[in-house]
Amino acid sequence: QKIEWQKLQNKPSLTKDGVHHILAANIGTPEDLAAVTENGAEGIGLFRSEFLYMNAQDWPTEDDQFAAYKKVVQGMPDKPVVVRTMDIGGDKGLPYLKLPKEMNPFMGYRAIRISLNRTDIFRTQLRALLRASHFGQLGIMFPMIATLAEFRSAKKIYQEERQALIDSGTPVGDPQLGIMVEVPAAAILADQFAKEVDFMSIGTNDLIGYSMAADRTNERVSYLYQPYNPAILRLIKHVIDACHHEGKLAAMCREMAGDQIAVPILVGMGLDEFSMSATSILKTRSLFHRLDSTRMATLADKAIHASTNDEVIQLVDDFVF
Ligand code: PEP
Ligand code: MG
Repeated sequence: QKIEWQKLQNKPSLTKDGVHHILAANIGTPEDLAAVTENGAEGIGLFRSEFLYMNAQDWPTEDDQFAAYKKVVQGMPDKPVVVRTMDIGGDKGLPYLKLPKEMNPFMGYRAIRISLNRTDIFRTQLRALLRASHFGQLGIMFPMIATLAEFRSAKKIYQEERQALIDSGTPVGDPQLGIMVEVPAAAILADQFAKEVDFMSIGTNDLIGYSMAADRTNERVSYLYQPYNPAILRLIKHVIDACHHEGKLAAMCREMAGDQIAVPILVGMGLDEFSMSATSILKTRSLFHRLDSTRMATLADKAIHASTNDEVIQLVDDFVF
């Protein structure tokens, strides 16, 4: 089967009836680029910038970050690369960022919340990203956005840094600005966000965890981590529809985007971009080729009107396998 999939490396990601969806990769360091190319990704939907912070003894400099971002955009000529700003906190700590112990770190001081508080660090990252954006098609995405005020603040800081670079004669591109949709409040308010962002990317790991209030790593409650629960599917559909209403791109950037049960439903909902680990891409492309998008739209409609996770799995089985 692997050999069959390999033949799809340079084939377009089309459904049986010819509808194109972008198949992109998630990466954690520039070293991951080889696998991205080998597996025929059409872009990078999530470049996690944490490695720059976690592999260092102190805050990474603007030049160090610039070099890493530039390497990735240049490694993906004519293809979009979305870099997510620092997503530290939760389970990802930094030795040099001394934070008081929190009762509930997953609902605490993390990601964009740190960036908007430590704007010195945020500005350094944004400058590095802006400078790298001159060398390719770079997009910037903010993690853990819960409110529009957060997005607006982040965008304002971004615009100030962009203007300052332009004023100093530094070449910069014009990156698209997006948000991760992983806090349920942002998903629910997607229609408002869609008016202001350039794109959204659904982070299903956190979105499912927060929506079901269940930690998938806790054996006693992991059964509640249900990706196909119609409640989750409705949230996802709401986000996709909100993006499309405003002509914005709707993406997803976690395992669910390459999950063989979820993909038929997401194709039916019209998700534009599926971003996953590089090793899942060819398998997903092969699945696309077997799906008829009109029929998958019927499946998606049935799925959001189902009542349980298991019913949805059964529906996909009936429709696809
Ligand atoms: C997610 O929450 O789904 C996500 C993509 O973020 P992380 O990098 O934390 O997995
Ligand atoms: Mg997340």
